[in-house]
Amino acid sequence: MNLILLGAPGAGKGTQAEVICAAKGIPAISTGNMLREAVKNGTESGLAAKKYMDAGELVPDEVVIGILKDRIAEPDCKGGFILDGFPRTVPQAEALEKMGVNIDKVIEIYVPDEKIAERLGGRRVCESCGNSYHVVYKPTKVEGVCDACGGRVVIRKDDEPATVLERLKVYHEKTAPLKDFYEKRGKLRTVVGQEEVAETSRLTLEAVNA
Ligand code: ADP
Ligand code: ZN
Repeated sequence: MNLILLGAPGAGKGTQAEVICAAKGIPAISTGNMLREAVKNGTESGLAAKKYMDAGELVPDEVVIGILKDRIAEPDCKGGFILDGFPRTVPQAEALEKMGVNIDKVIEIYVPDEKIAERLGGRRVCESCGNSYHVVYKPTKVEGVCDACGGRVVIRKDDEPATVLERLKVYHEKTAPLKDFYEKRGKLRTVVGQEEVAETSRLTLEAVNA
């Protein structure tokens, strides 16, 4: 099963990707995490991506498409995968089709813009493994320490308020048109993000299994 998770920054795509990954045994692929890893390691694509990410802009399509194509060619993707944060533009979605990838479902996690700013303000991520947390909604067991790997949990640079507004603007301009793109293909399912993460997870798995 090949799935796409669509939604604004901070809608909870990463959290739901982990839930589906655990339930279905297929890998969750986050282009955001892969790009942050590339930046940390100072690779060529990392160097190309950093200035866009810090400004809350999208990384150029050709950079992201290249990274994604290599990743889904790896053996663990043979039985399917969950894409979190890709595609983010119509050309990226078209590139996926040109690669011959069949997408079964696109799950949109809908959260109104007013909620997004509040959520991103409290978001924390693990420097080492990329797991994400929230000071109120999904705290770590020990403050500042990742439950999964013991790494340091920090505020992401692009979660600063001004950058958050830019990312929301970019989402509405460049990514939201994908709803139409996949609606036309009969693939779009919308899940309304709930206050309770567990409730959103239940609705998400329902949409995946339907
Ligand atoms: P969020 O969904 O919280 O905005 P991500 O972790 O998915 O954050 O992505 C962080 C940043 O990485 C984005 O703001 C963008 O600069 C870059 N990025 C991630 N995925 C893509 C993509 N598919 N296309 C272009 N840029 C991307
Ligand atoms: Zn970690």
